[in-house]
Amino acid sequence: MDTRKLVPLPSLFGILKPAVGPSSSHTLGPMRAGRRFREILEARPEPEAGGRIAVTLYGSLAHTGRGHLTDRALVAGLSGFGPEDLADRTIESIYQEAESTGVLLLANGGFVFRPSVDIFFDTQTPPQPHPNTVRFALHDLQGLVLLSSVYCSIGGGVVVDAAEFESLGEERAAHEASARGVVETCKRDRMSLADYMLAMEVEAHGHSQERVFDHVRRVWSLMSGSIDRGLATEGVLPGKLCVERRASAMLSRLEQRGETSRMLVAESTRASIYAIAVAEENAAGGAVVTAPTCGAAGVLPACLRIMKESLDLTEEQIYEALLVASAIGGLAVAKASIAGALVGCQGEVGVASAMAAAAVCHLLGGSVQDVVDRAAETALEHFLGLTCDPVAGLVQIPCIERNAAGAVSALNAANLAMVSGGRDRVSFDATLEVMHQTGLDLRSRYKETSLGGLAAVSDLDRDGVPDIPDDRRSAA
Ligand code: SF4
Repeated sequence: MDTRKLVPLPSLFGILKPAVGPSSSHTLGPMRAGRRFREILEARPEPEAGGRIAVTLYGSLAHTGRGHLTDRALVAGLSGFGPEDLADRTIESIYQEAESTGVLLLANGGFVFRPSVDIFFDTQTPPQPHPNTVRFALHDLQGLVLLSSVYCSIGGGVVVDAAEFESLGEERAAHEASARGVVETCKRDRMSLADYMLAMEVEAHGHSQERVFDHVRRVWSLMSGSIDRGLATEGVLPGKLCVERRASAMLSRLEQRGETSRMLVAESTRASIYAIAVAEENAAGGAVVTAPTCGAAGVLPACLRIMKESLDLTEEQIYEALLVASAIGGLAVAKASIAGALVGCQGEVGVASAMAAAAVCHLLGGSVQDVVDRAAETALEHFLGLTCDPVAGLVQIPCIERNAAGAVSALNAANLAMVSGGRDRVSFDATLEVMHQTGLDLRSRYKETSLGGLAAVSDLDRDGVPDIPDDRRSAA
C-alpha cells in the first residue's frame, strides 16, 4: 500500500471526541475557549492585583447561549475544566461555585469574576469574524483593558483565535482533500475507506495504530453508554419547554407490540429510539461523542447499534465503521462546515447522516464508491437547505427527533447504495460544495439564532411558560 500519496484529512480525534451536551459549538467550544484564556492569564508573570474578567458573547452564541449552557461552559473552562474532567462535577455546580465566590482563582493569583454580571450576551453588535464569537478581557480597577482575546467556535467543539480563523478560508480553498481523490486512492491501492483513514492517521497525524484503536474503542464505549443511559432515564429535560424524555417509554411500547412491529420495520423504529435516547442525553448535558457535533450526536451511534444487533457484528467491525464515518466527517470539515451557526442543520444532522450512511454501507459490504458517492452523498443530499431553528434556544425541538430522522435516512441511503447498480449522478464533492454555498446563502435567522423558522412561530417559546421544578429534572 503506497501511503506516501495519501491526502491528509482532518484527524478522527477531532471529528469523534468525548463531549458534554447540549452543543459542541456552544458548550464544548466555549469551554475550550475559556480554558485557553485561563492559560494566557496563568502565563502572565505578575497578574494584575484586583483585575476583573469580562466575557462577551456575540452572534449565535449570544442569541442561543443561555439555552445551550454557554455561560456555564465558559465558567467551567475559565475554572480549568475540560469535558474529560467532569466525571464528578457538573458545569452547573462549577458555575454556582464561581457565582458564590465572585473570584476566578488561578495558579498565580486571582481575579474578580462573577458570571451573572461579567458575562454579556450581546445580541446587537454584528458578530465578527464568525457567527460564534466570544471575547475575553482582563480589566484593571479603572476598567482599562489590559489584555483581550477573541475566539471563534467553528463547529464540532473546535476553537480558533481570530487570527487563525482569518487563515481558515484560504486553507479550505487550498485543501487538497476531495472525496474523488480519496476514492481514487483507495481504488488504486485496494484499500477500504477504513484502511485509508487508519493509514492517514499514522502518516499525516503521527498517531500509532494502537492509539487510533484505543480512541475508537473509547468512542464506541461512550456512544454505547449514551444510548443505554438515554434508554434508562425518564423525567423532564432542563429548560422552560418541559420536554419529557421519551426514549425509554417508546422502546417499551415497541417491544410490547411484538410481531406486529415487524410489519412496521422494527429496525428503523428501534434506531430512531436509540437516536432519541442519545439526543435526550445530550439535551440533558450528559456525556456524548461529537459525531460530528453534539446536536447531531445520536445519528451515528444509533445506526451502529442497530447494525450490531441486527447482523451480530463484532466490536472490530464497529471500530472500522467509525473510521469510515470519520473520513466523511473530515471531508465535510475540510471542504465545507459542520457549524449550525454557519451553514444550518444540514452541516450537523445532514453530515451526521452522511457519516452514518457511509458507515452502514461499509458494514453491508459496499465498495468505496458505494460508501462515498452513493450512501454518504444520498444521505446528505436530502438534508440540503435544512435550517437550524432550535425552539427557545434549547437543543430539544426539533433537534431530538431530527436525530431520529437522520438515522433512518442514513439506513435508507446505505440500503439504496447497495442496490444502486453502481449508478450515481451527483458526487459527494459536489453535494458538499452545494451544502456549503447554500449555508452561506441562508439568512442568519435560520442559523442557530432562534430568530426564525420553528423557533419564531412556536407557541412553546411564549413568555409565561414556567421553568420546571428541580425535583422533576432528569437525573442526568
Ligand atoms: S436544529 Fe440542528 S443544528 Fe440546530 S441546534 Fe438543533 S441539531 Fe443543532
